[in-house]
Amino acid sequence: MASRIIPVDPFDLVIFGGTGDLARRKILPALYRRFWAGQIPPEVAIIGAARSDLDDAQYRAFAREAIEEFVSEVKRVPATVEAFLGRLRYVVIDARGETGWAELSRLMRADVDHAFYFSVGPSLFGDLAQRLRDNGMAGPEARIVVEKPFGHDLASARALNRTLAQHFDEAQIYRIDHYLGKETVQNLMAIRFGNMLFEPLWNAQYIDHIQITVAETVGVGGRGPYYDRSGAMRDMVQNHMMQLLCLIAMEPPSHFDPDAVRDEKLKVIRALDALGPEDIVRGQYCADDGVPGYLTDVDSRDSTTESFVALRLAVSNWRWKGTPFYLRTGKRMRARTSEIAITFKEPPHSIFGVQKGQAPNVLVIKLQPNEGITLNVTIKEPGPGGMRLIEVPLDMSFAEALGPEAQDIPDAYERLIMDVIRGNQTLFMRGDEVEAAWAWTDPIIAGWEAREDRPRPYDAGSSGPEDSLMLMHRDGRRWREVRP
Ligand code: NAD
Repeated sequence: MASRIIPVDPFDLVIFGGTGDLARRKILPALYRRFWAGQIPPEVAIIGAARSDLDDAQYRAFAREAIEEFVSEVKRVPATVEAFLGRLRYVVIDARGETGWAELSRLMRADVDHAFYFSVGPSLFGDLAQRLRDNGMAGPEARIVVEKPFGHDLASARALNRTLAQHFDEAQIYRIDHYLGKETVQNLMAIRFGNMLFEPLWNAQYIDHIQITVAETVGVGGRGPYYDRSGAMRDMVQNHMMQLLCLIAMEPPSHFDPDAVRDEKLKVIRALDALGPEDIVRGQYCADDGVPGYLTDVDSRDSTTESFVALRLAVSNWRWKGTPFYLRTGKRMRARTSEIAITFKEPPHSIFGVQKGQAPNVLVIKLQPNEGITLNVTIKEPGPGGMRLIEVPLDMSFAEALGPEAQDIPDAYERLIMDVIRGNQTLFMRGDEVEAAWAWTDPIIAGWEAREDRPRPYDAGSSGPEDSLMLMHRDGRRWREVRP
């Protein structure tokens, strides 16, 4: 199947923080891959802008290494790599001073769109926006891309929104949540709204419950001090998991356009019930078999930050009344896996009597490690011997259905950067969405602080603290196994 790649118009992209970890691992390789695919035209200009004292040649060497490390060999065609590197420039810039701004402004071309990727710590977002305005680079042709975290709580998110709004319209601001760039997440919308099969059943009458799991095997690694101020709730739930929940729970928008989709997502966040202590389990991983525990990783004796959290949520509206959403995320868990599992109700009456093999239908949307969608259905076990039922997966893995090209699913950053260039904000969070998510999260965190809540310890390599199993058992349900 031939892919339809529609090239975008030439553009200028500035990567503030162009020498950082995110630029090296994600942004530069993503840009190269789209260049290789022919979507980014040869007239593009990509400008790294950061504090390090580099020149163009040194920045190209940095980008070459990033491509060698993070782009697959088949795509590293020497002539294409050289052509891409030839489009890179570098400017030494100080977000908080005057260095570099005049030079950057000179490099920007008058007749193309401009995108500015803020791949720096959030404390610099306001400075960058201000200096872009002061140096005449905040015109209507400009878009800014803002990385996470977007605020630490409602007050800081509001302040950040206000600061950015002084310099840019909402239509120019792209708040990245890379989960929304994943192919399967968008497929979730295609499945829901492009088929007749699912949407009529997509409600509390037919769906028993929904589980969203984001499990990591790694600990906090080098991000110790940052993570310890944040924790799983701020780092994963308030943004990524909330976004996934919104896409599952939202009403069908009238069009697939940015505001129609984001209006519906916002309604979901506003319909979330406040949580009580009985709806939440927090955990912190312990040392295990020579692997350090959380406290060692963050260099603290008494941190009460959670590296795991499990929640039972209720979306209070007609569609979802009575269907709980269970969310859990954690570090140092048994396997690296991210999935959404939608468990349908049992048939109201079994004509086969009580049967071991009969299980409810489960639609599993797998985001990591391999993207794909599976629907578990009950069928008759083949062969003679009467009507024995078994559960089998109807596997909608893209690779088999769509051929070899589908194995080459673009990375989330590739899609999102191209959406910025095309001016499509559908997969980016709007300011009011982010604020609503914080408005729901803040009281939960404030409750822990007021109660001096201590996270439950859990073994590294486990499924999280025992109490998180109870969260489900209490409702007569079970978590799905954490497996790759
Ligand atoms: P990093 O520390 O590796 O890089 C920071 C970059 O900012 C460097 O290029 C540095 O030169 C530049 N910088 C710092 N101070 C500056 C100043 N005053 N003026 C100009 N440039 C300055 O950080 P990172 O890991 O690349 O993260 C960048 C942003 O992306 C952060 O907001 C982070 O939260 C977010 N993020 C990173 C990742 C990741 O995987 N690294 C993932 C998600 C989000």
